[in-house]
Amino acid sequence: MSNLYAALRAGFPADLDRCAIEALDAPGGPLHYTWRDIERGSAMIANLLQGLDLAASSDGVPPRVAVQVDKSVEALMLYLGVLRAGMVYLPLNNAYQAAEVEYFIGNAEPAVVVCAPRNFGWVSRTAFNAGAQHVFTLGEERDGTLLQRASVQSDEQMPVERGADDLAAILYTSGTTGRSKGAMLSHGNLLSNAQVLKDYWDWQPGDVLIHALPIFHVHGLFVASHGALLNGSTMLWLNKFDPRTVVSLLPRATVFMGVPTLYVRLLADAGLTREACSRMRLFISGSAPLLIDTFTQWQQRSGHTILERYGMSETAMLTSNPCKPQDGERRGGTVGQPLPGVGVRVMDDAGNPCPANEIGHIQVRGPNVFAGYWRMPEKTKEEFTADGWFKTGDVGKIEADGYVVIVGRSKDLIISGGYNVYPAEVESFINDFPGVAESAVVGVPHPDFGEAVVAVVIPAAGAALDAAEVITKLKAGIAGFKVPKQVFISPELPRNAMGKVQKNLLRDQYKTLFA
Ligand code: ATP
Ligand code: MG
Repeated sequence: MSNLYAALRAGFPADLDRCAIEALDAPGGPLHYTWRDIERGSAMIANLLQGLDLAASSDGVPPRVAVQVDKSVEALMLYLGVLRAGMVYLPLNNAYQAAEVEYFIGNAEPAVVVCAPRNFGWVSRTAFNAGAQHVFTLGEERDGTLLQRASVQSDEQMPVERGADDLAAILYTSGTTGRSKGAMLSHGNLLSNAQVLKDYWDWQPGDVLIHALPIFHVHGLFVASHGALLNGSTMLWLNKFDPRTVVSLLPRATVFMGVPTLYVRLLADAGLTREACSRMRLFISGSAPLLIDTFTQWQQRSGHTILERYGMSETAMLTSNPCKPQDGERRGGTVGQPLPGVGVRVMDDAGNPCPANEIGHIQVRGPNVFAGYWRMPEKTKEEFTADGWFKTGDVGKIEADGYVVIVGRSKDLIISGGYNVYPAEVESFINDFPGVAESAVVGVPHPDFGEAVVAVVIPAAGAALDAAEVITKLKAGIAGFKVPKQVFISPELPRNAMGKVQKNLLRDQYKTLFA
């Protein structure tokens, strides 16, 4: 095993002058980047970083490079350059504001920070206060000091030798259930996952990927980019997701990856037809639960069955619905089977294995599972079992034939009057009612029950809903203790950049409802 970049590089086509990335919405674009451009650009950035004489931390951890920039192909080259230099890549959501960035930079103590030119003032102040040695800028128009400085470097570089266990990236979790934690991922974690997915998703010569996801998260940065690079596949690259543009690219592409909200937005575009999708091979969804309604509508409109998979910052991908017919069917409402080499088990509260179809805590292990949370040894210890399995914090079950179903997160589990209520179960009942687009069920403090079930329901376009009627219908379908004490009809759910519903915000909003 060597440097992850070297392994990805081995997947590039022999003819480096072929198009690697077509950046469609880049300013002044579309721009075409050849494989040689990717190789040279990342080499120049690596040489710049290596020439900075950065000090490793006292604990021997290589220098961290924290990056908060808008999506661009150059930002991807920066990631690859950091890998090549043997340093540690630390991407930050570009929606994060000053207080958030201050936390991450203070926590990770990067030696180098790269930010958007417009943010240089406050980011550099924060960075230097936290001990950073250099702050560069990288803009959407290939502007900024990073590329200026890199452009005078040699365009040849030997990736620094790295072992499978050496740290490659720190990925901060999305912060859906609390404060974000830095997941430490090694070259080996990332490469093993990329290789397994290449085979399981049956990447083909000639595959073309539409890359429309952000690259500060595991989905867009690792799953999508590694997949295409390792397979030597051209990417049709969008800095920003736009349903119209994606639909117009479908006839030229074979693979698309999206979070569920992207699929919902694509379905709203009249151009999404079977004909537009006729060359497509694979649609993949993940990062948040895909509604069965979206899954079925997509089948009807496009003629394709979305492949849903499940993963997280700490582990990259864990389970996937099958791609090849011989591996089985793609089953809606499930996240498929454990990927080859990945162990998935469901345990009860007492730490014993649950029988098939019984709900419990999902635990995992495998070469893709991270080493621990950055500078949180206690937290890391808590999240691993004595026999070395990682506690995902997700709650679910495994069907008799091995398909995994996620029913929610343990932190979202509601205990009302001593009974467990799984939000996903109540949500799926509500979502089946006519006129309902989606819903979120949370627990809020209640003087008698400990927690009370509350539902926020979003009507489908043009539909009118009555809260009391939703409750009446639920009473006819599920046990009384699961029925929400109160239902709110609302135009939308609070979501983060990856389309995850922020239940913590809902719990906060309704925390005094029964007080
Ligand atoms: P935090 O750990 O800070 O609370 P987070 O868990 O949302 O944030 P990520 O690592 O980005 O941060 O997301 C991983 C989580 O996303 C998983 O634990 C799971 O709850 C959810 N997830 C990912 N894919 C799916 C899927 N296909 N279906 C349901 N949930 C999914
Ligand atoms: Mg998490």
